[in-house]
Amino acid sequence: MPAFTTVIPDDPRGHSLTLVRVPPGKPVVGIVVSDNLIGCATHFWGGRTIPHEEQLCFPCSEGSPWRWHAWLAAFSTRNNEMFLFESTKRVAMIFAAYRETHGTLRGCVFKAQRATDARNSRVRLELKPGDLRSINLPEEPNLVKCMSMIWNIKLPDLAVECVIDGIPAVRTISTPDNDKPLPNQTNLKFHDESRSETA
Ligand SMILES: [Zn+2]
Repeated sequence: MPAFTTVIPDDPRGHSLTLVRVPPGKPVVGIVVSDNLIGCATHFWGGRTIPHEEQLCFPCSEGSPWRWHAWLAAFSTRNNEMFLFESTKRVAMIFAAYRETHGTLRGCVFKAQRATDARNSRVRLELKPGDLRSINLPEEPNLVKCMSMIWNIKLPDLAVECVIDGIPAVRTISTPDNDKPLPNQTNLKFHDESRSETA
């Protein structure tokens, strides 16, 4: 007789977190998992965003300008997955103002979308506190480790769980309550008026 369970076993390879930027024509909706965001100066170099480094920065020596970017971990109720959300400095300042008011970004429900269909048009950000009683948010991952893994930067205490085709997977801390019911998605849907059904 097979041992049936209702609990799906953890993937031994760990989770990999996708880096999400706001695409044109489609909003990004999520609940912030991180208490705060992290950011650093970056270069767009060789077709990708890489960190600017204080010493011996090759893109700097080639005259490439840098831009500051920020990242936070967020949870999608569409696919029940955690992802890393990338913000420009302007959008990060909106998150920072929210944190100033509410004390933390964790639990903040956000909807980010571009003003027009142009790839680099201004991102509009709507924020509101989520109802944390109905959400079982995952534990927040270490953002420095997440970004270091994406950029393949070695940190002394960085435990890379596995490497798939040269790309290290980001291992997130699994919640001890894996068998808890998933968040009630109907509570977290955005409406045009930006109200939640529970508000
Ligand atoms: Zn640089």
